[in-house]
Amino acid sequence: MDLQLKGKRALVTGASSGLGLACARSLVAEGAIVTLVARSTARLERARAELGAGTHVVAADLASLADIERMVQEAEALMGGIDILVANAGGPPPGSFESTDVAAYPAALQLSLLSTVAMCKATVPAMRARGWGRVIAITSIAVREPIAQLILSNTARAGLTGFLKTLATEVAGDGVTVNSVQPGLHATDRLREVFGDTTRLAAGLPVGKLGDPEDFGRIVSFLCSQTAGFITGAAIPVDGGASRGLQ
Ligand code: NAP
Repeated sequence: MDLQLKGKRALVTGASSGLGLACARSLVAEGAIVTLVARSTARLERARAELGAGTHVVAADLASLADIERMVQEAEALMGGIDILVANAGGPPPGSFESTDVAAYPAALQLSLLSTVAMCKATVPAMRARGWGRVIAITSIAVREPIAQLILSNTARAGLTGFLKTLATEVAGDGVTVNSVQPGLHATDRLREVFGDTTRLAAGLPVGKLGDPEDFGRIVSFLCSQTAGFITGAAIPVDGGASRGLQ
């Protein structure tokens, strides 16, 4: 299927590894021009070397609103505009209600909620003016079923999902779709670092295996496509059947 993404200009954050890199890889394969964002320049350069000459990189920390503003301006200058935003970053630190001080919340909300609000503020007006745009945020299945010991992530991502749904409704008439994709357990380096042997994790999923990040990237590309223009305001689980609720 031709996703009609040739020449579309995509900003992908958290793009030097894992799910973000897989999204960038898939968009490049579909002919999009992509700017990759992360903090480590070395890892960004490794990703650029793999993805090819048409790929741009900008180092930025999504924990900083000033960095986000600069990063969007640089990406616009490099690509001549932004048609697609894939908003992603690492998650906040683990903890329970008991172990997590209120002082830890602002940083988590900045990384996993406000950074996406800021990126939307900086990119969506031009998408609306052009009559075409795609916003995809990578959240978590924790939005459906909060995960124990991840109170910061559970809180921030639920808030982000409310923001995205509201934005989707406001901009739908201008050709801009806004969706989130909720990963379950995917075989990224980070997951292997955190859990070591992932055999038991995989066995606990209805499909009996971890998700392939490359498949995840292709799903995000599909949501960016022309064909997916009628999907907006959705929060789509990609979790091998892990979330058991009806919604
Ligand atoms: P990952 O492999 O650790 O990748 C995270 C990416 O984000 C890296 O490129 C990292 O590069 C970048 N990043 C982290 N903090 C950043 C910051 N402050 N500013 C800019 N870039 C930043 O993680 P992943 O497994 O792909 O997960 C991606 C997202 O999905 C996370 O929010 C994670 O919580 C969520 N998720 C993942 C899974 C899973 O199974 N993998 C499941 C549920 C939810 P630098 O470190 O160089 O900045």
